Amino acid sequence: MMEKLSNELILKCKIAEENLKRINYEIEECAIKAGRNPKSIQLLAATKTVPCEVINHCISLGINLIGENRVQEFLSKYDNLNLSNCECHFIGNLQRNKVKKIIGKVSLIQSVNSIELAKEISKASSQQGIKTNVLIEVNIANEKSKSGISVNNLYELLYEVKSMDSISVIGLMLIPPICEESKILRSYFYKMMQLFIDIKSKKLDNINMEILSMGMSLDYREAILEGSNMVRIGSAIFGIR
Ligand SMILES: *Cc1c(COP(=O)(O)O)cnc(C)c1O
Repeated sequence: MMEKLSNELILKCKIAEENLKRINYEIEECAIKAGRNPKSIQLLAATKTVPCEVINHCISLGINLIGENRVQEFLSKYDNLNLSNCECHFIGNLQRNKVKKIIGKVSLIQSVNSIELAKEISKASSQQGIKTNVLIEVNIANEKSKSGISVNNLYELLYEVKSMDSISVIGLMLIPPICEESKILRSYFYKMMQLFIDIKSKKLDNINMEILSMGMSLDYREAILEGSNMVRIGSAIFGIR
């Protein structure tokens, strides 16, 4: 397969391969430092803007989970991705009128942030006779510019989802505020973990807290130390976008 690729793509594949080795090692190291089983932490490769050839190379190396951000980009790549041993999640901001286009093609939508969006996903899934798993994206610091749901509105959303037939919440997702201080970052991740535990303890229908998706290229170590079990890493694998 490599023979057919341009030099530029071959270089990109090599860079990703090297980076993946290092990141897998660091995830393992962080897990051990936190007293956790390294196998309990899933690595999702965030593949926006990354060519299919490079993604497929990573899949051949063992990446079994990728995340795409934009509906259009995802659909244009879909047929060229080798997804037989790899799941694909949708991790970007999702408009209601695009829900239908991705239902059944992604195994998890990580970015549900409103009752209306959840309803639309449930409706579109039931039309296809399937149930769609989702995460709720939380805006932990109440940032105006962020798309997640505020903690104040989170429980209302969960209580609504309880009675929706074709959608199932299996965890929470966070994109934290941009912040360089490790201590502050960890406090956001810590709050997410507390929410995760609290929701789990409520044992609501249709709500199973299995995945706590937090940690990106610059902060995955802190996230793992605070209990993340899925890190979404893009630029640290593929280089700057
Ligand atoms: C792009 C993206 C990532 C990965 O970001 P990096 O900083 O490149 O690791 C993770 N999560 C979401 C939702 C993204 O859009």
